[in-house]
Amino acid sequence: MTQPHYLALDQGTTSTRAMLFTATGETSALAQREIDLICPQNGWVEQGVTQIWERTLECLKNVTAKTNDIRAIGITNQRETTILWNKKTGIPVYNAIVWQDRRTADHCKSLREQGWNDKIAEKTGLLLDPYFSATKIAWILGNVEGVRAGAERGDILFGTVDSFLIWKLTGGKVHATDVTNASRTMLFNIRDGVWDDDLLRLFNIPSSILPEVKDCADDYGATAPEIVGGSWPIRGVAGDQQAALIGQACTKTGMIKATYGTGCFALMNIGPEFRRSSNKLLTSIGYKIGNEKSYVLEGSIFVAGAAIQFLRDNLKFFDRASGSEELALSVPSTNGVYFVPAFTGLGAPYWNPDARGAILGLTRDTSIAHITRAALEAQAYQTRDLFDAFIKDSGIPSSSLRVDGGLVENHFMVQFLSNVLGITIDVPKCTETTALGAAYLAAIGCGDFASLSEVSRNWAAGTQYTPEKDRNTYNDLYEGWKQSVIKVMT
Ligand code: ADP
Repeated sequence: MTQPHYLALDQGTTSTRAMLFTATGETSALAQREIDLICPQNGWVEQGVTQIWERTLECLKNVTAKTNDIRAIGITNQRETTILWNKKTGIPVYNAIVWQDRRTADHCKSLREQGWNDKIAEKTGLLLDPYFSATKIAWILGNVEGVRAGAERGDILFGTVDSFLIWKLTGGKVHATDVTNASRTMLFNIRDGVWDDDLLRLFNIPSSILPEVKDCADDYGATAPEIVGGSWPIRGVAGDQQAALIGQACTKTGMIKATYGTGCFALMNIGPEFRRSSNKLLTSIGYKIGNEKSYVLEGSIFVAGAAIQFLRDNLKFFDRASGSEELALSVPSTNGVYFVPAFTGLGAPYWNPDARGAILGLTRDTSIAHITRAALEAQAYQTRDLFDAFIKDSGIPSSSLRVDGGLVENHFMVQFLSNVLGITIDVPKCTETTALGAAYLAAIGCGDFASLSEVSRNWAAGTQYTPEKDRNTYNDLYEGWKQSVIKVMT
């Protein structure tokens, strides 16, 4: 391999991957390792910090063995997941507390009761929820012996996964994060672009543990050859959903991407001005590269592909997720059946943690095909919920959507999505959008590309879906969904 490559490290919740990309966005190597989840108590979700590091390093070494010509590294990662470590020994003081962890629900509740919700949303664009890093950091400082004292002596560092990996890769030389990851900690003022002193006081977190916040394409030092096997510049960093936004080239105001994996995350680029949601969406920084800065509105659906897994694994309707498509197409409609997959509550725009899943409208004729079809149709209805909120909040009517993730292999689902939203849907040629976004940032960071708009030109359409004309039918079907959601809310 002689042409220059950009190496993307994609540290996700289920696995870590390293991928090599060429300047035109073609992939040329991939290494992947799963990461274990540790669930010590109900609602607690952790991962081994050493495992994250060792498996990431293994993937990185695997792909760098294939070429030495690496121009720069870009990192993208599961967001919010919280790691504290000792800067003298490099030893983590506790497992990584994963974004899904709910142990700080009571802490959040008591702050909500004290009226902090609004002030926090004003500064961070986020809702007071255990999801974000702040209460996870406070929990480690307050509950792991010796950590607070260590932090006060200046021996402890905090990082989201990007920040921890940068520190390890550079041999402890660089302690930094990027604006997108910082914007998910609930400690970062996304209007002013600084760590917020009021919030640090509120959560009792010493500023000495915090990483320096940089642009998404910036100088994050170089890998230490004695650890990594070579000295390569780290020049791009973004949280996974923001990296996918970049990989999907949603760089213009009003553009939306949605990633359908286990859950679904939809982000709308709302341009350079901060805007707070009135519909329970989150506001975050989408990216910042010099003067090029964009905010996003974000909506998350907790259960997307997981509903298909549920039908496959729990109800044994089919052997492989892809079998859901044939089954759904074997019937002309769900025959009035709705599947509300609220297994772990409802996310945006409802934020109802106590709702639970339901299959409604069952009759004597209902078959597994109807229920499967309803599970796939639910993806479209859930997305329409978010879309309506995006439009209300931003005032921007969106005319297209770019999608990726495992579920978009299902053509029935994507066509139905197009019908329910009434807009064109694009599946890109390269569906590895998260890793691609990190690679693009690295390419900009090392000066090979001038701007996001320049790399955006590489975006190539794969399959396009256009809506069927019958708007009334789909609007009526969606009304049925809204009624069903009301029934599962507690
Ligand atoms: P994650 O990154 O969250 O692990 P992926 O993007 O790999 O998820 O997508 C996997 C999800 O997509 C699984 O929940 C699976 O059930 C679903 N899925 C994959 N292929 C199909 C398909 N052809 N039809 C329906 N669902 C699918």
